[in-house]
Amino acid sequence: QTVLVTGTNGYLGTQVSLAFLEAGYTVRGTARSLEKAKNWIAKFPMHEKNFEIAVVPDLTGEHAYDQAIVGVDVVVHTASPVNVASIKDNEQDMLLPAIWGTRNLLVATKLEPSIQRVVYTSSFAAVCNPPLLPHAGHMYTDDSWNPATYDEAKASDNPFFVYCASKTLAEQEVWKYIKENKPSWHATTICPPLILGPPLQPMSSMGSLNASLVSIWTLINGDSNHGIPETHVPALTDVRDIAKAHVLSAQKEEAKNERFLVIAHHFKNEEVIDMAAEAHSEVRDRLPDVSSFKYDASDHFRSDSTKVQKKLGFSFMPKDKSIRETIDSLLELDKKLEGY
Ligand code: NDP
Repeated sequence: QTVLVTGTNGYLGTQVSLAFLEAGYTVRGTARSLEKAKNWIAKFPMHEKNFEIAVVPDLTGEHAYDQAIVGVDVVVHTASPVNVASIKDNEQDMLLPAIWGTRNLLVATKLEPSIQRVVYTSSFAAVCNPPLLPHAGHMYTDDSWNPATYDEAKASDNPFFVYCASKTLAEQEVWKYIKENKPSWHATTICPPLILGPPLQPMSSMGSLNASLVSIWTLINGDSNHGIPETHVPALTDVRDIAKAHVLSAQKEEAKNERFLVIAHHFKNEEVIDMAAEAHSEVRDRLPDVSSFKYDASDHFRSDSTKVQKKLGFSFMPKDKSIRETIDSLLELDKKLEGY
């Protein structure tokens, strides 16, 4: 079977592509340029035989995916703007690529009758109500929806709000498309919180690190020496679990037309710093003191992710392993990329 993975070269796109390759699929990975796609496969030469490149320079173009979709059985859409720090224009930089990228891909599925499954990478951003965060005591479930509208997002001066709205409106495209077009394929949407775990995507410097890992890297690279940033989204899932959830969603009967909130653990930045200090004495002097920290889960939202574990039949990796391996891999990568 062939799976089209959009945004192969991204942090999650890389792990999702590898998970499908390891499960025996041929992966057709999209990237915005041939150079990015070639860099990706150069990093994973063992998969060259089962990897095809599809260059999609602009996913907002009406027929963006018409060629890439021919001959695929499964569609996985991870590509979407994530970097809130680079928003200059709410619509052009965030809302339109997220929404039209999804819409164009869905419309393109009409060209390929062999498609059986569509897996869309949504987000906790589409589940939560951002202005109410940390939303102490509130229970978020698979059925919770961010109530943001396009017009609110267009006018907002809060980039996080705009990102959250982009994911909400893009996921709504999936469910709307199914309702209106009744395609023969089935969809699954996956809503992860902060994704942690080793970055395997091609990178030239720590400056090109993906946004979720930047929030961890700035805790341990000395930038937080003068104050620990508030844990913006105090919930995490490991990238390898999210990748696994994508593969299982494409395979399992139980995943058909399901929306999964995929929160493995709740955490605080202080725990990350504490683990870094314990495991890496060489960075201890650049870390803030967290000795008086006491974990209190009642100060933010609660979540229920039992459905995804039950329907897909898997359990999450332990929190300590995920955080520890994130720290280890970031420090290792920094050493490797030093001087580049
Ligand atoms: P990355 O920034 O590493 O990857 C994003 C991917 O999307 C890249 O391939 C990127 O291409 C592509 N992309 C971004 N903007 C555009 C655009 N305007 N047009 C075409 N392609 C674009 O981020 P992640 O791997 O973290 O995110 C992947 C998905 O996971 C996203 O949908 C995100 O919303 C979702 N997600 C991520 C979470 C996290 O904590 N990391 C949490 C919840 C959901 P290029 O390299 O060319 O920029």
